[in-house]
Amino acid sequence: MRYISTRGHAAPQSFCDILLGGLAPDGGLYLPESYPQISRDELDAWRGLSYADLAYEILSRFIDDIPAADLKAIIAKTYTAAVYRHARNGGDTAQITPLTRLDDDLYTLELSNGPTLAFKDMAMQLLGNLFEYVLDQRGESINILGATSGDTGSAAEYAMRGKHNVKVFMLSPDGKMSDFQRAQMYSLSDANIFNIAITGMFDDAQDMVKAVANDAAFKARYKIGAVNSINWARVAAQIVYYFKGYFLATRTNDEQVAFAVPSGNFGNICAGHIARRMGLPIARLALATNENDVLDEFFKSGVYRPRTSLETSVTSSPSMDISKASNFERFIFDLVGRDPAVIRELWAKVDQGQPFDLAATPYWARLPSFGFVSGKSAHADRINTIRLAHGRYGVMLDTHTADGLKVALEHRLPGMPMIVLETAQPAKFEATIREALGTEPVRPAELAGIEKLPQHVVVMAPDVEAVKRFIVERV
Ligand SMILES: *Cc1c(COP(=O)(O)O)cnc(C)c1O
Repeated sequence: MRYISTRGHAAPQSFCDILLGGLAPDGGLYLPESYPQISRDELDAWRGLSYADLAYEILSRFIDDIPAADLKAIIAKTYTAAVYRHARNGGDTAQITPLTRLDDDLYTLELSNGPTLAFKDMAMQLLGNLFEYVLDQRGESINILGATSGDTGSAAEYAMRGKHNVKVFMLSPDGKMSDFQRAQMYSLSDANIFNIAITGMFDDAQDMVKAVANDAAFKARYKIGAVNSINWARVAAQIVYYFKGYFLATRTNDEQVAFAVPSGNFGNICAGHIARRMGLPIARLALATNENDVLDEFFKSGVYRPRTSLETSVTSSPSMDISKASNFERFIFDLVGRDPAVIRELWAKVDQGQPFDLAATPYWARLPSFGFVSGKSAHADRINTIRLAHGRYGVMLDTHTADGLKVALEHRLPGMPMIVLETAQPAKFEATIREALGTEPVRPAELAGIEKLPQHVVVMAPDVEAVKRFIVERV
């Protein structure tokens, strides 16, 4: 399996060669040169597999440069009931992503039972083990530099903690995260994890990461890497739970299902799109946005209009507060028939903050065959949906999953299972749960009192040179 760039000007690469990098050298995103096709016989054979065995079957179609026994072992140690132990609603942790039935054909698939209680663990835990393996094989090391407003940074730290040859330098906006999120990250005491709180906003932290990454000499000398949402291995890992969710919600492979996906950077639903292209019987992919509705606008109008950070609202489903969806280029590449010249033209606009409009093109006419529908959910909808789920179905949903359920209810088809992907646990968003239900969300017992643990964090002004010095002194 070779990986090609959406912009067409980069040499094809193998999986391990793109694992540690970010963008392709031509500025594009890597995708497999073709999607493996899953036959009906294979689908039948996979129905009864454990999560780890299913993950091996799927991921080995994309990863052919790690020996089978090694890949199997990496996957087996990633997808265990001990790692994904925080199941709720009577869910069976052995399933890794248990399915909860809300009513007749309406379900949630729990993707947030990992260490940080958000779905990012599903892919990031695998990434941690893959990084360690490939770095060991090659005798290399990496220093991951990132900026986080919450979920991504903690998922990366919990995935990389204690790993050989990996250090993590994570910038976060000082005082802007919830007490719980802060405690989750800063209470880690592993020697390879460095938390840096920046006296500024998330954007300041993000700009500092970009400034360091743009210093090519520094980046090469100090082996600076990233684990952001365009990383192909993260998308690949996420394909697995679409298959698992399908098997859990159906009896036979003659059935079709729909998924509803709370979306931000388009990484999660991009994996659903790929699962569908591989032949999984998905009739619909319902994309849900919050107030930051750049993707809903595209699927309704054909216009993709990235926003500036000033036009991006801070909402009560903060992990979907995006102005530009970094994985969207992968989907558009498929939509335009994988023509890199079209992508270069469209992203020449996006990279300058300009919109593009596909409505009058032949590509737009093809969109229905991709199965996408979309919707938007604002704060009042979110509160109503959290109440509805609690009152009618007896489950407590987090704010992002509530956005997904709101849109799912608008796009259900009679008699067809609709699976809402649960992307975080309500315990991460206590204030909004309190507002909706007047109660505290249940927190996994082992995380009780996490705010009282000693915290390890250095506070720093938004000064790029100071961060570089900090890194140099510790690598
Ligand atoms: C990251 C995140 C999302 C958005 O996922 P994308 O892959 O960026 O579309 C949704 N909900 C939660 C809780 C998240 O952490």
